[in-house]
Amino acid sequence: MTATPAPHGDLPADERMRELAANLADVRERVRAACDQARRCIDDVTVVVVTKTFPAADVVRLVGLGVQQVAENRDQEAAAKVAEVTERLGGRRGPTWHFVGQLQRNKARSVARYADVVHSVDRVPLVAALSAGAHAANRHLDVLVQVNLDPSATGRGGVPPADLPVVADAVAQSERLHLRGVMAVAPLGTDPRPAFDRLVALAARLRDDHPEATWVSAGMSGDLEAAVQAGATHLRVGSAVLGSRPSLR
Ligand SMILES: *Cc1c(COP(=O)(O)O)cnc(C)c1O
Repeated sequence: MTATPAPHGDLPADERMRELAANLADVRERVRAACDQARRCIDDVTVVVVTKTFPAADVVRLVGLGVQQVAENRDQEAAAKVAEVTERLGGRRGPTWHFVGQLQRNKARSVARYADVVHSVDRVPLVAALSAGAHAANRHLDVLVQVNLDPSATGRGGVPPADLPVVADAVAQSERLHLRGVMAVAPLGTDPRPAFDRLVALAARLRDDHPEATWVSAGMSGDLEAAVQAGATHLRVGSAVLGSRPSLR
């Protein structure tokens, strides 16, 4: 774990820009070092910056700093932020939006309107709802199936590993959804590496049936090195870039 970045508070805009730039540089350096150590090519690892709880202005700053992948975890906040970022950017190209939060079926239609990638699909009924939403919006979505690697954890989402094939098959059968791989959050309070190894092994098995499912979304601010070591292709990094969030989330 690196030191917690300085508080963002009410910094003047250009100071916030400098803070984000410095934090991003630190994260990129950590990813580079982890790739070196794992003898992996840095081009095979994508950093997705998790901007939940932070304002649209920060997303616009991040885009200005070259960030092209951002993630949100709540539909209401995300829908408003996507709209605001799109407006602030004018004609400029916006980021790719990832949705990484637990998803209710009644929110699927909304999420399908703005998300490009959904990491948190973990039930067959959700697949149907997301597929219908994508169809209604005339869009296509990249989808990861979230796996629960910690049977003792409740309420954090994810399909039990044994049910991964069923959910993955349902995604693959949708014309509007493209199965890209798997996602997981490491169990709290233990070495994340065994969990990430299990996820990578599940992903390899999944590719026997779905060769296109090459993404492994794993690793956050505190455990990105372990995720790179295990073989993650997508890291979801929030606080190491943006600073600490209010603790209620
Ligand atoms: C918030 C969140 C992250 C980022 O966590 P940090 O510890 O701030 O890097 C990653 N993944 C998911 C699913 C999240 O909700």
